[in-house]
Formats: sequence, C-alpha cells, structure tokens
Amino acid sequence: MIGLRTSHKSELVDITEDVSSIVRDSGADKGICIISTRHTTSGIIINENESGLVSDILAMLRRLVPEGGGYAHDRIDNNAHAHLQAVLLNSSVTVPIEKGSLLLGTWQRVFFVELDGPRSRKVHVSVVRG
Ligand code: ZN
Repeated sequence: MIGLRTSHKSELVDITEDVSSIVRDSGADKGICIISTRHTTSGIIINENESGLVSDILAMLRRLVPEGGGYAHDRIDNNAHAHLQAVLLNSSVTVPIEKGSLLLGTWQRVFFVELDGPRSRKVHVSVVRG
C-alpha cells in the first residue's frame, strides 16, 4: 500500500519509484503488478512525466468535464466533475514484471491522478507471481 497526501485540487503524482520498491521487496522475478486506487475521485494512468504534458492532461480533463456543469451529484457533494473525470480514466493499471522489475518503456511512468484534492489517498499494489 502506498499512502500519499496530495496538495492540489487536481494533480498527477508520479508513484513509479514507490511501486518499483514494492515489487523489489516482494522478491517476485516474473509476474504482474496491479496498481489500483481506492477512491472514486482519482485514477491511475501510465504516461510520460514531462511538465508540459502533465499540465496538458489535467487541462484535457477539465475541458472534457468542466466543474459546475449542472451535474446531479453536485446537489449532494459538489464534486461531480471529479467523479466524472475519474470515469474517463482507469482505477487500476497492470504492468508485467520481468527479471524482478516493472516492465515499463523508457518514458513510461505510473501516476496517481488526484481529481478532488488535496486529500490523503491510498494506492494498493498487488504483486502476482507467475
Ligand atoms: Zn462525490
């Protein structure tokens, strides 16, 4: 489990190193790693950690699902946009493990996507040998 504290309303948190160390500590040589968020206003994605791209991804989500768009859920919680943005993402990603390491491309990083921060968040990491 990875615990993190986000500091903005929406942000991408690069959790690749945390996930990698869990995989390393598991001692699994080959298998799969499942990284999943336990929150309905967040997501997990794999992409490149380049600052321009990071802001483009957040801007895209805001453009597709703007805050205060007359959503029914806003009557009770005022964060419908965050739930709806999360629907567009995955709540989990699966990455192969080869030779004890995550099989990621050179530019691939694992991100926790905060959509309704700042909050304390939990990301679950499961290692399945095979
Ligand atoms: Zn809500």
